[in-house]
Parts: sequence; C-alpha cells; structure tokens
Amino acid sequence: GSTIGIIGNGQLGRMTALAAARLGYMCHVFGPGEDSPAEQVAHKATVADYDDRDALIAFADACDVVTFEFENIPHESVQLLTEHVDVRPGWNCLHLSQDRLIEKTFINECGIATAPFKGVDSLADLEKAVDELGRPSILKTTRMGYDGKGQALIRPETDLATAYESMANAPSVLEGFVDFQREISVVVARSACGQWTAFEPAENIHVDGILDTSTVPAHIPDGLIEEAVRIAVTLAEKMEIIGLVAVEMFHTKDDQLIVNEVAPRPHNSGHWTQDACYSDQFEQFVRAVCGLPLGSVERRNDLVMKNLIGFDVEKWPDYLNEPNAKLHLYGKASTRRGRKMGHVNLVYPLGELPKE
Ligand code: ATP
Ligand code: MG
Ligand code: MG
Repeated sequence: GSTIGIIGNGQLGRMTALAAARLGYMCHVFGPGEDSPAEQVAHKATVADYDDRDALIAFADACDVVTFEFENIPHESVQLLTEHVDVRPGWNCLHLSQDRLIEKTFINECGIATAPFKGVDSLADLEKAVDELGRPSILKTTRMGYDGKGQALIRPETDLATAYESMANAPSVLEGFVDFQREISVVVARSACGQWTAFEPAENIHVDGILDTSTVPAHIPDGLIEEAVRIAVTLAEKMEIIGLVAVEMFHTKDDQLIVNEVAPRPHNSGHWTQDACYSDQFEQFVRAVCGLPLGSVERRNDLVMKNLIGFDVEKWPDYLNEPNAKLHLYGKASTRRGRKMGHVNLVYPLGELPKE
C-alpha cells in the first residue's frame, strides 16, 4: 500500500494514522520525543527534530505523500520536503497559520472580519495599541501559542509594562476583546481538485484557555450556520487547502461572526465527528490528502465532546460503564496539569441533547 507521512506525532497524528489504516494506508510519523501518541499506532516512526535535514530527506523518500498534524514547522524543512515528495497542504497554509499577524491580515483580505488588532514589538507599541483598541483587550505572542499559552488579558487595572514583560520580548499582537455569546468552529475538507465538504458548526466552551467541550448542534440561528460554513469554505479556497482547515469563530451579541484563528489540520473541536458522522474529520483528511473522493459529513446524532485534560483522565474507567460514552485515549505515559490526555464523545439521539 501507499505510505502517508505525517509531520507531528501527537494525538492528531495518532487518530489520523488509525483512520488511514482503515483505508489500507500505512503511516510514517515524524517528530521529536520517544513513545509519542502517534508512534504507538503508526507503521513507522522517525524520532527527530523538525529541522533535522538528513532525517527529513530519508522520511520524504520513504513516503508517497506528506502532511502535517502540527503547523509550527520551520520553512526550510517544508521546502526540503517539497523537493522530495508531494506535500499537502503547501507552505502557504502553514505560513499564515504560524503567525497571528499574517493570519489576521490574510483573513481580512479575504473580506472576513476578525477582532481589531495591532502588532506590538515594544512597550511603546503596546501603549499606543491599548489607546486605540481600549480595554479589555488581549495581548498574544504572534507565534507558537496554543491552549491559551502566551496570552495576557489587559484589564482596566492591568499594568502595561508587566503585561509586556510577560511576552518575554516575543513579537506580539494586541486584539480587541470580543464580548461573544458563544464560540463555534467549522472543519472543512478540501481536495486537490477543489471538491470540499464542511462539517456543521460545533459550539465550543473553553476553560482556562483550553477547549473543554464541543457540542453539536450549536445553539446558533439557522442563518448563521450557513454563514459560518460560507466563511470557512471561503478561507479553505483562498488558502488552497488540500486536507483540512478548522476555522474558530466568535458569535457576537449582535449576531455577527468574527474569525478568531485557523488551523490547517485536524482540530480538537472536530473530534465530535468521530462518533457522529460516517466519514469523520480524520477520514476526510486522509481522503483529501490521498486524492480520494470525500465522504459524507451528515450528522447522525447529537453529541457532546468532553476533553480529558490533566488528571481528569483518571475518571476514564467510569466512562466505560456509560452506554452513550465513546472513549478516546491518547496513550500518553505521563499525566500533567493542562495536558490533553484523551476525550470522550457523549452521544445522544437527534434532538435529545441534555439541556444546559
Ligand atoms: P488554540 O489551542 O485554540 O490554538 P490559542 O492559544 O491559539 O488556542 P486563541 O484561540 O487565540 O488561543 O484563544 C484561546 C481562547 O481565548 C479563545 O478560544 C477565546 O475563548 C479566548 N479569546 C481569544 N481571543 C479573544 C478575543 N479577542 N476576545 C475574547 N476572547 C478571546
Ligand atoms: Mg491557536
Ligand atoms: Mg484557538
């Protein structure tokens, strides 16, 4: 069979490899650190840093196509892979999702709204940006942030020098605070020939900056479901995605949709699809990357995806006794506070989601 190369070896790579195996593909995963979640289920694993040229070339030569479950890869590495193998999606997609300033600028150029933002490279920049965008606002490092790390909320009383110092001189962006009703996300799959499918929006609740639950259906007006899908598909097309893109959005109090960020890969807020759709996000990802026709994204039941974060995972045996709970564990050897250890999909008949 053909071999799919996956850059990154976390739980997203693990679940992609499982989906690929069902379709008869082999996966070769690449990333640092022994005993990773993906390595445990892949056919082959290279343990190496993302800038290890020799390891990247050997990996590329062993694969028929290469994709990513992690977007923070150095440009030179992607370039090198591209010289040896088909890389899907291309550098353009990673490039813009690696840097919040480039990302938000691109989204606005596509005619899609984001929170107002300003680049910040000094305390003076921050003072000026706060004058323009007001308080509250959120200061974020432009690169490498995830799960709300590298962010500082600027409240009315926040000392700007302290907030600026917490960014450790990393290039940053100040964003106006969006007083949202709720957060939603849409995962779009797109093939090289331009075929696309969009899973319906999920409603996401974050706790301490980390995704806690995703629920389908989202509690948004019907018109906004179509609008959310239109926005996500527009971005998938403009980015020329081959694979998946997840688009996080805020639903504001005046029923507007504002894009927060995009991720050109499977996404935590798409895990609900595993137990609600015939072709889940990981299968759509494999299909898109391998040039197969995309599957059905029709939803067969209502669902709440609950992340098992840190020591929450110790409750996992309880879920085995719940008839509507489908457990997904990532095989991580050590539990740490804030670490994503697994998730559970709580499945309900259509229209029978528990009331909030
Ligand atoms: P992820 O793990 O999703 O990649 P991240 O570290 O890139 O997270 P964001 O998605 O930018 O961070 O922010 C995390 C959460 O913080 C958001 O889902 C939202 O709840 C809140 N948040 C971020 N930006 C804003 C904003 N401008 N206004 C209001 N809330 C925000
Ligand atoms: Mg992010
Ligand atoms: Mg986010």
